Amino acid sequence: MATKEIIRRVEFLRKELDRLNYEYYVLNNPTVDDFVYDRLMAELLETEQLNPELQSSESPTVRIGNDITKEFIQVKHKYPMLSLNNTYSKKEIEEFDTRVKKETGTDAVEYVCELKFDGTAIGLTYLNGTLFRAVTRGDGEQGDDVTANVRTIKSIPLKLRGTDYPQEFEIRGEIFMPLASFDRLNGERSDRGHTPFANPRNAAAGTLKMQDSAEVAKRGLDCFLYFISGEHLPFDNHFDNLQKALSWGFKISPNMQKCYSIDDIIKFLTYWDIERKNLPYDTDGAVIKVNSYALQNSMGLRAKSPRWAVAYKFKAEQAYTPLLSVDYQVGRTGAITPVANLQPVQLSGTTVKRASLHNAEQIELHDIHTGDTVIVEKGGEIIPKIVGVDKTKRKIDSKPLVYVVDCPVCGTKLVKLQGEAKHYCPNDSGCAPQILGKIEHFIGRRAMNIEGIGEETADLMFEKQLIHNVADLYDLTKDQIVRLDRMGDRSADNIIEGIKKSKEAPFPRVLFALGIRYVGETTAKKIATAFRSLEAVKNASMDELLQVDEVGERIAQSIIQYFADNRNLEILERLKNAGLNFEMTTDDAQVVLSNKLKGKNIVVSGNFSRSRDELKQLIEQHGGKNVSGVSSSTDYLIAGDKMGPAKLQKAEKLGIKIIGEQDFMDIIKG
Ligand code: NAD
Repeated sequence: MATKEIIRRVEFLRKELDRLNYEYYVLNNPTVDDFVYDRLMAELLETEQLNPELQSSESPTVRIGNDITKEFIQVKHKYPMLSLNNTYSKKEIEEFDTRVKKETGTDAVEYVCELKFDGTAIGLTYLNGTLFRAVTRGDGEQGDDVTANVRTIKSIPLKLRGTDYPQEFEIRGEIFMPLASFDRLNGERSDRGHTPFANPRNAAAGTLKMQDSAEVAKRGLDCFLYFISGEHLPFDNHFDNLQKALSWGFKISPNMQKCYSIDDIIKFLTYWDIERKNLPYDTDGAVIKVNSYALQNSMGLRAKSPRWAVAYKFKAEQAYTPLLSVDYQVGRTGAITPVANLQPVQLSGTTVKRASLHNAEQIELHDIHTGDTVIVEKGGEIIPKIVGVDKTKRKIDSKPLVYVVDCPVCGTKLVKLQGEAKHYCPNDSGCAPQILGKIEHFIGRRAMNIEGIGEETADLMFEKQLIHNVADLYDLTKDQIVRLDRMGDRSADNIIEGIKKSKEAPFPRVLFALGIRYVGETTAKKIATAFRSLEAVKNASMDELLQVDEVGERIAQSIIQYFADNRNLEILERLKNAGLNFEMTTDDAQVVLSNKLKGKNIVVSGNFSRSRDELKQLIEQHGGKNVSGVSSSTDYLIAGDKMGPAKLQKAEKLGIKIIGEQDFMDIIKG
């Protein structure tokens, strides 16, 4: 009998997997890695198998991830369009081979190994050599009719070549976005201020579901076909029919291979795990299929997948290590980030001691207990992340990790805002890291740019209680500063001078420097330009704020809240009296900081600690020019996390200087 705890976990997993399916298939915006999703699915499947009374026809384990949307007409599939059973383990591929031989009663099985293209599945029906209809997988029984969009994909023939094709047949494949198209699209999106797609798969799936076929045509989708079905096919096996389809004009992958033994299969998997990185499109694994239709039919289907095929998924390098403890870090904005302290372990050439746990939801998703052995992975991000738990190593007396309730620094009860994954400490003017964060932000180069005070000095001034908030900076005297550790007379003079000079900072920078939650550099500039004075921003209504480009409800709400707090108003009054610019002057819009990048063409790609917009603005403010594509006239490529691989390859080929965010900041600092 399943215990209460098991029932609760099964319910939780079903709910979470339904949510993740929706985010992935309909919104095309996944919030966890595929590896994490696959582990949760495997956990649910195993728990249901061990507790048959919990099985349900509604469970995500027996339902295909559904991409149906209400914008398209649904069409029933003639043959169900299934998913594939998948594994990350070569041992399970060996077990698949053993099972196939046992179930078919022969040792001489011919397999076809193929790459698993990372896009979205499509079924194309041809009647008398003409494309009749293109339908997505949907729920496996019926899918969305996306024919108009598919017609724009150049590699999909509208009319077939030759004459020896069956009168009616269906051919299935994967629509994907090549890396070069993906980089171009995301470059354009970030230039226009739109959120870039997380990966080429989401970009392909999202594009295929657009309402405007002309826009689809521009995005450079492509398609490999990998499965054919119909009543009068020329051959009795998968491989030969696909080779035939090549002659009819279909794009069939040249990287398919017939394998006759498990050793051959493993060699194929090992080779492509490395070699796939040189392909101009993403693959997330390989598919191993029984070649003969007769043997396929003798093995049959499961609810979600055929029994005669299996997908082997490639995974990033991982390490297993015990979780020692969890720290809860309080950020400048009060956001809490749980960070795992790990027993040091080697991963991709570095020693990993700490890893991000992101937020409470992720901890619950992984079902992390104290003392667990966790699986750590290094993805595109610099900070390693925890992607799962090795439950076989769990101690019997271990307890689920309990998330902090109070701020670990100031003790205030944490809050979790609707729609946000993180918890927050709301005590923004009384919680030390938040105050210090606000001060560090305020003095920063992009804000008030107070020369002479670095983060260390600011920390020291705060610790020695010389400053309690940003307004105190303007009351500092040389006598007070000179008494700080390791502070010389000249340095103290420089600081006083730096503070004085900061009063010249234009209004948009002052507004940004205040550190109002969600108001970044670009937004501050837009708000300052629209309202022209702090007084006007303070008095603006929700509706008026929402009129400003890029200001949504979340930002507007945060601004209103900021001005509703008397403690902030007091600080503003003191800053105003100190002589800061609370009004826009005509030439504030074109801030020129230096000429250090004069004549330089710069490409910004990937994710950074600052927004891409902020980096681009800095480039302009220092005389440089932003360009979206890498070419021989590019001077620098500023490369961030998860940057487009095609861009990187091109830059390397052309010998363009590739620099990181810090290198760039060093250049403009001179
Ligand atoms: P799948 O992608 O694991 O495998 C089936 C699909 O592989 C087929 O539908 C087909 O589209 C594709 N495919 C590519 N090349 C192929 C080839 N040569 N032959 C046959 N098929 C080929 O299964 P799925 O049901 O489409 O998706 C499930 C997977 O999607 C999960 O395993 C997970 O990795 C991912 N997913 C992730 C999230 C998330 O939140 N990150 C959510 C849902 C699903």
